[in-house]
Amino acid sequence: MNLIKKAAEDISKAKMGIALTGAGISTESGIPDFRSKDGLWSRYDINEYGHIDSFKKNPAKVWMMLREMISLMNAEPNPAHYALVELEKMGYINAVITQNVDNLHQEAGSKNVIEFHGNFKRVVCTRCGKKKGVDKIDMENLPPMCECGGILKPDGIFFGEAIPRNAYLKSVALATKCDLMLVIGTSASVYPASQLPYLAKGSLTKPKGIVIEINKETTDITGIVSDYIIEGKAGEILPKIVEEIKSITS
Ligand code: NAD
Repeated sequence: MNLIKKAAEDISKAKMGIALTGAGISTESGIPDFRSKDGLWSRYDINEYGHIDSFKKNPAKVWMMLREMISLMNAEPNPAHYALVELEKMGYINAVITQNVDNLHQEAGSKNVIEFHGNFKRVVCTRCGKKKGVDKIDMENLPPMCECGGILKPDGIFFGEAIPRNAYLKSVALATKCDLMLVIGTSASVYPASQLPYLAKGSLTKPKGIVIEINKETTDITGIVSDYIIEGKAGEILPKIVEEIKSITS
């Protein structure tokens, strides 16, 4: 059976659908994922620059990379983000749990977005905790500083930091409760977000939800947790699924 059709049928029958997204949903907006061969991550070692200890040790050095990363995030949502907005409006998707820190789901118009790794379009003061938009700070002199004299940090997490508590609890509750999860553009390799599809799926003795992957390539959960994978670009596949749902429900 055509997998777009199958996904449309599964989504339209679900009582509680949710989406888990990763960097791959934003590559068509021009923001590279970790796997891209060229670009940011070939020049900066993610293990070095992405760890909170590196930030603490040399915030100015890490901010050089962050400044470039944040400028890349000056991007527009793509058809995949907009398709998820439509699915939410149609009542098929209750929430988008995103590992992305680029704010593109929110900019596209999704209402219930859970920022699992925070949001790099905001900064937070490491001393007083005040938050503001990244567009409000001076990035000429690094590291950027708060009025209180503290160093500003993106309001998202680095490796070595805990998942924001509320986002974690909400995500676990949603993944446990849902009966369908779309896993879009994530390699499903970054813990603990990688565990959410397992919660959605249930266990061998107590199967629960349908897990559908949309990805350019197979991942660690393909065929183990996901029921099936639709291989290709999220920005092409998701709008087709929306169109198919409209045709079967009209
Ligand atoms: P990842 O880089 O490990 O994996 C990206 C996945 O997306 C891969 O499986 C790849 O095959 C797939 N992919 C790439 N382009 C695609 C497309 N057009 N359509 C469908 N699939 C596509 O990313 P991850 O799993 O999200 O984990 C990496 C971590 O990096 C996350 O924590 C995320 O927060 C962070 N990150 C975020 C951004 C962002 O905010 N846009 C960008 C880079 C990294």
